[in-house]
Amino acid sequence: MQRVLAQGALDMQPIDLRASGPGDVDDALRRIGATVGPGSFTGLRIAITLAKTMALATAAKVVAVPTPLVLAENAPPGARHVVIVLDAKRGQIFTASFARLDDDDWAAVEPAHLDALSAMLARAPRPLAQRTAISIKGLTPGVAYHLAQCCHPIPGDRIVGLRREDEEIEVHVIGCDTLASGVDADWLDLAWGEGSDGGAARLSVILRDVPGALGAMASILGSKHANIVNLGLVHRDGSFQTFNLDLEVHDLAHLHAIIAALRGADQVSSVERI
Ligand SMILES: [Zn+2]
Repeated sequence: MQRVLAQGALDMQPIDLRASGPGDVDDALRRIGATVGPGSFTGLRIAITLAKTMALATAAKVVAVPTPLVLAENAPPGARHVVIVLDAKRGQIFTASFARLDDDDWAAVEPAHLDALSAMLARAPRPLAQRTAISIKGLTPGVAYHLAQCCHPIPGDRIVGLRREDEEIEVHVIGCDTLASGVDADWLDLAWGEGSDGGAARLSVILRDVPGALGAMASILGSKHANIVNLGLVHRDGSFQTFNLDLEVHDLAHLHAIIAALRGADQVSSVERI
């Protein structure tokens, strides 16, 4: 330990605390961010000691920031999911995962912990390979259609098509509220083609506002092989958080199994498909 510390100290370059631009240090330097891990104990101790020393010399404030969050904040603008992996040596990793919320903040889906890389990758969100393996019976071959965004039909749902002149056919779940406004359209009796697999369903999930609730939800979804496409915090009060959750699933039976598992968790207050 003595040797490592000495080595770390020797490697440290002189730091010039004088401001390089206009104004002096007092104006330029108000806060010093120090990442607080996870990471090697020795490395963290040297970094925090350095930050505190600089704070004493400049009267700036030291702000402790978790390393995984700093890395997530530096993800490219289009990234929806981030898995952080830091080498913890001996075949282990420090890891954490985050999902970008609609307001651009990051929600910690899995807080930082020690794990194996293969286990983390197995839980990480990824595109569903069978995404395009759907077909619909009852349509003229080659006719353009899309799955309506109001009710997010998935294989297994009873579906109906709305056909209007010069528009793509809209496929809705029977019972969708939007159908009431479709009286001007032709209604088509539709069914899923055999072997149709893959679709995105939307759930409204109310979690109890307790530490680890989001992580518990993520691990249930992971164990059911559901892929989170989008996660939005829509409401938060003192004791509950309401999320809209877009999930890639195989079919209705898969979705029902996921909903049942979520409803069985203590951290989950309610789950509804929307
Ligand atoms: Zn609809």
